[in-house]
Amino acid sequence: MSELSGKRALVTGGSRGIGASIALALADKGADVAITFERSADRAAAVVREIEGKGQKGLAIQADIADPAAVKRSVEEAVEGLGGLDILVNNAGIAHYGPFTDISLAEIDALLHVNVRGPVLAAQAAIPHLQQGGRIISIGSGLGERVPFPNVTVYSLTKSALLSLTRGLARELGPRDITVNLVQPGSTDTDMNPANSEQAEGQRALTALGRYGTPEDVAAAVAFLASPAARQITGTVVTVDGGAIA
Ligand code: NAP
Repeated sequence: MSELSGKRALVTGGSRGIGASIALALADKGADVAITFERSADRAAAVVREIEGKGQKGLAIQADIADPAAVKRSVEEAVEGLGGLDILVNNAGIAHYGPFTDISLAEIDALLHVNVRGPVLAAQAAIPHLQQGGRIISIGSGLGERVPFPNVTVYSLTKSALLSLTRGLARELGPRDITVNLVQPGSTDTDMNPANSEQAEGQRALTALGRYGTPEDVAAAVAFLASPAARQITGTVVTVDGGAIA
């Protein structure tokens, strides 16, 4: 029997990048997986087909995580479609970079709503459905811990907030035997941060291993935290950054 067979997972922002890899890694371990997306309906449908190709149930739900009603609905649709919920992965995120004084009010609001309020509301909606052995795993960023270059201040602060969310929820949910952890990727080759961009060389140079990460590198850490073997790990951080913060 696979490690996660019988488990039901919801991955926000699972249409591409890190979220898509997480959804597939959980399905590889035997979980049924619902993903949310904002715009990429075709890519979300392709991820669902891959999940189904692994013999698991897959479900794509359109839901802008900046919209509180959509977040609640997406959790309800996942619960209904999968028959319950055991694992929530808060992955959907956006980045806006630039000098601090140039970041617009609209960009600040979007960063806070997508990267912070979204995970808070998704967790609020999911928690009543989680059972003993449940998991909440959020995707932060190495930039939430260390800020090795300028022009990422507001993005970094949204990712720092996920550490407090993780620690606080670990305390609140520990008595129910639900673990809550944070995975902090470093530079990872996705649409958000392509490994062949102008900025990529500088980021690569910060790592100890001298390379960008892949979405699969991050997904492997999430899949481990979701597994029964990680049952004693809660309220903590797994950093997957090739040693950038070493
Ligand atoms: P990505 O390639 O840009 O993919 C973002 C995903 O989030 C997509 O599935 C997208 O859906 C979804 N999304 C964006 N805004 C949304 C919204 N308002 N409502 C619902 N879904 C939304 O990004 P990624 O690199 O995989 O990043 C995933 C997570 O890892 C983010 O939280 C990011 O901050 C974090 N992270 C990334 C890196 C990196 O170097 N890539 C490093 C550290 C942390 P659509 O396809 O529909 O747009």
